[in-house]
Amino acid sequence: MTVTYLNKLFIDGEWRDGNDGRTFPVFNPADGSTVAEFAVASEADCTEAVEAADRAFAAWAATSPRERSDILRRTFDILSNEKEKFAEIMVRENGKSWPDAIAEANYATEFFRWFSEEAVRIPGDFRLSPGGDKRIVVTRQPMGVSLLITPWNFPAAMATRKLAPALAAGCTTVLKPARETPLTAAYIVDALSRAGVPRGVVNLVTPVPTGPAVAKMMQHPAVRKMSFTGSTEVGRVLLHEAADTVVSTSMELGGNAPFLVLPGANIDEAVAGAMVAKMRNGGSACTAANRFYVHSSVHDEFVAKLAAELGRVQWGSGLNRANTLGSLVSLEERDKVAALVTTAVDEGATVILGGKATTAGAFYPPTMVTGVQHGDTINQTEIFGPVTAVVKVDSIDEMVDMANDTIYGLIGYVFGEEALALRVAMRIDAGMVGVNRGVLSDPAAPFGGTKQSGLGREGSSEGILEYLEEKYIGLAP
Ligand code: NAD
Repeated sequence: MTVTYLNKLFIDGEWRDGNDGRTFPVFNPADGSTVAEFAVASEADCTEAVEAADRAFAAWAATSPRERSDILRRTFDILSNEKEKFAEIMVRENGKSWPDAIAEANYATEFFRWFSEEAVRIPGDFRLSPGGDKRIVVTRQPMGVSLLITPWNFPAAMATRKLAPALAAGCTTVLKPARETPLTAAYIVDALSRAGVPRGVVNLVTPVPTGPAVAKMMQHPAVRKMSFTGSTEVGRVLLHEAADTVVSTSMELGGNAPFLVLPGANIDEAVAGAMVAKMRNGGSACTAANRFYVHSSVHDEFVAKLAAELGRVQWGSGLNRANTLGSLVSLEERDKVAALVTTAVDEGATVILGGKATTAGAFYPPTMVTGVQHGDTINQTEIFGPVTAVVKVDSIDEMVDMANDTIYGLIGYVFGEEALALRVAMRIDAGMVGVNRGVLSDPAAPFGGTKQSGLGREGSSEGILEYLEEKYIGLAP
């Protein structure tokens, strides 16, 4: 397939170069080749994008919900019809496998359908005050210009999970994708433009370096909302910046998901669940199972069966559609994963599968280490790669304590007899828990974390509320 790439900024309805003419390379991590040169947005370009969004805001906020809904629905149709092209861009700039790219294309596209349906159902309230002296009318209004900052690991879905509800709510937007994956973001912005989004309503900027340009946008008085998906470290920086201008924030941050296999669990089901929870997106997912706490009564069977499944995974370039594990996003990420495995061994763990990085491309093979202790580095770090680290535990109470002993609270997984697994799930401090399920993400469900995994929720009927402010109007009774 021949794919042409949009490699420019999108500001006030125009595709254009940055005003200082600089570009940065976008690499294919599977072979190191340059996929495209992308325009760098200067700080002045970023300010122009914010101001274009500001100028467009009043008219966009005043469109009917149905009009906004129709544009989102048309975007859904466009991306659905172009799924293969959409997926191929992700494979080339991110390195993910073809099945992961197609799955993401589907998931990402669904947010436009879901929020086209939510745009026309924004709730309000009308009631008499308890004292009978006034009518209380509560309406919801869009917050205003929304700055949307996304990571490289799900370059499409993390953008659509923000763009769709923001636009449905009547907000205008400036999207800042990760430097590694701007081409997917540009493709989505183009689909919105083709679907009829008015000029200025969606803008795309790619500043290099990122920090100062984003800080400047955050200082702009027109920016009233910032939604971020990325690491907890960068999230903390942005929360500090948001404080200066009291910008509303939604934060989808890092995770360190526990995966509990209880005594009496159906081990075949637990292994199937682990394959998805660990290996979806090659382990480069905030939802990826990171810490496997396996009860000693089922430990050996689980380890043997999971290792056998992992050993059958076919890995290599995402352009070969039969491969189910692609590359990591960069050589740096590959080396980070490799170093974690080396440290795990130094700390006493045993590699029973994989464990050797390739020399060419950012690949790392499916790997399993056992004999890990709860406090080991590999267990306390977001691995973000295809490495399964297993801790053997003797009691359910200990499993729960270990699962909750972290600053993160995004997601957890519990496998076991359903009533018991449900009781254990209730004790896991996380925004999401899968009971006998290895994947939870769904546009119709609230996605988000507790503790330092984030603030707010995306998707579901709650996702749109993140971009709306309540307004109370008091009337005579
Ligand atoms: P990252 O935090 O390094 O970068 C995320 C985005 O922030 C990128 O666009 C980056 O350019 C930008 N950025 C970096 N420094 C910045 C700064 N000083 N000011 C403003 N923006 C800045 O994260 P990443 O490496 O791209 O993605 C991986 C991380 O994202 C993992 O921790 C993962 O768990 C997390 N993540 C979370 C979710 C979720 O929904 N909770 C989903 C996907 C990924």
